[in-house]
Amino acid sequence: MPGRVPERSAQRRPELGVSQTEILEMFLKLGYLSPESLKHLKMAGERRGVPLLEATLLEGILHPDARSFLLAESLGLAFEDIDPAAVPLAMSEFVPESTAREYRIAPLSREEDRLTLAVADPFLHPVFSVIGQGTGLSIRLVVCPPRTINRILDRLYPNLQAPASEELEGGLVDRGQAAEWLARGRARTLVEKTLSFAVGGGISSVRIFPAGNRVRVSGRAEGENALLFSMPIRYRGALLGGLAELAALPGIPAEGSESTFQLEGSDGVLSFQLLFLHGLSGPEAIVRHLPEFRPAATLDSVGLAPEQVEITCRLLGKKDGLYLLSTPGPEGAATTMFAMLREMVRPGARVVTVEERFRFRTERYIQLERRDLETRYGGRWAQLAGAVEPDALMVEFLRDSSDLIELVHLVREGVPVLCGVRGSGVGDVVRTLLSLPVDPFLLFRTVRLILHQRLVDLLCTECRRTVPAKPSLLPGGGKRGEMLEEIIRKTSFYMPAGCDRCDGKGYSGKIALAEALPFSHGVQSLLLAGLPVERTVEQLTEEHLYPAFQSVRELLGRGMVAYDDILPFFR
Ligand SMILES: [Zn+2]
Repeated sequence: MPGRVPERSAQRRPELGVSQTEILEMFLKLGYLSPESLKHLKMAGERRGVPLLEATLLEGILHPDARSFLLAESLGLAFEDIDPAAVPLAMSEFVPESTAREYRIAPLSREEDRLTLAVADPFLHPVFSVIGQGTGLSIRLVVCPPRTINRILDRLYPNLQAPASEELEGGLVDRGQAAEWLARGRARTLVEKTLSFAVGGGISSVRIFPAGNRVRVSGRAEGENALLFSMPIRYRGALLGGLAELAALPGIPAEGSESTFQLEGSDGVLSFQLLFLHGLSGPEAIVRHLPEFRPAATLDSVGLAPEQVEITCRLLGKKDGLYLLSTPGPEGAATTMFAMLREMVRPGARVVTVEERFRFRTERYIQLERRDLETRYGGRWAQLAGAVEPDALMVEFLRDSSDLIELVHLVREGVPVLCGVRGSGVGDVVRTLLSLPVDPFLLFRTVRLILHQRLVDLLCTECRRTVPAKPSLLPGGGKRGEMLEEIIRKTSFYMPAGCDRCDGKGYSGKIALAEALPFSHGVQSLLLAGLPVERTVEQLTEEHLYPAFQSVRELLGRGMVAYDDILPFFR
């Protein structure tokens, strides 16, 4: 329970409009106070000679909703709803925005040497005394609903005063970009753009927290932390306030709280879980991206280029067939497959996923672990399908490619299948398919798409070093060679170095790049043409692949990736 009541307020205790008994009875009825507590308080209060209302406050047993009303009543403070438009704009000079937003305090008026503040919590004495000392005015408090305070603050501080550029420290979000977002729409826009940027870069959670005299905004991806940007600590309240605003919360919660919210952008709808915490150095927030909650087109947010997204969604929209996702390792595969599933299945469909280990649980799907297949269904996909009768099946990783034959039969029976395989490119998957002892006509009419995805490290923009010489060209010509040549001609190259900010790694996060081979009629005919395997692979990649070039070129152009790290896409 908070500390002492300010003397000034205590002296002004007026008559309450209603009797204490009436208020307590009302709160009993509303469930804000239990009969047992009231009985206990009556006894204790009589002994100590403390009025009942004060006792309920001192004991801290009242529901928070009842508190601010009661606080105002019992402290003799005004409790009022104020028209934000009536507050003079000049009032913003009396309280810094960060303090105002962080503690939900709105300066309302000044009469001679007295400053009236609207507050949600009248027990923030240290803050009030700092404001009092800073302004040389005595403070008067009015308790006000948090929502109203926020509206007043939005009126008083329409633009977060932009920090001088040397006060902004860039990370994955560079300084100029952060400053521009801030200039465009205050902290809310800065936070919103940062979250979209983070999700686009494969970052799964963003944390806003104090670190010394800075507030740091960092992202976490694949177990690694990277700075997005940082600002002087006085912006903490504004950043957290912007986040609360995005989540449609009435303000920064006074205690730890968890909620979810969605952002709608050009990339579709993104869902987040928001956690406000109170650490030793005050409030901070963690925002987790919830990929399984994304209801709209989201394949671009996992790293697919726009034309790849378009063709993939078109094929998934057929809601049949076999879709193969190839990755060099386990990283990032499940995320992409869940994004594909959401494109493919209608709401309410019976989706069964078989995962190596659960990354996120979703109530929408029947989720099995790989070992369930062995223990419950004798390792047979057909047996599993017979038992659970899925409308769609997702297999995170198919260890034995000969199992593909079994899956092809499932697909023929009408169950669309998403299946993960390991490989270094679309070509590997094609070679595997061509080697299967199964009727190629049946096989190639079943497969709809091969997608190959590779996570690429993002260079730490703080310490990346320019490569003075142009990299030498790889052997091999054709269309890919030409594109590579063009990229090399037009781009400055960087290599990783290492600094404190990236823990000496030289990298700060990852992004997914993909190439897609849709099984058009042309692809099917080519596969059935009986050409030598390598010739088939070459022709497919030359003529039918949706390559990663577009994304690679963009990332190279922005100096986000090292040349060596994207070379696998040119093999
Ligand atoms: Zn670095």
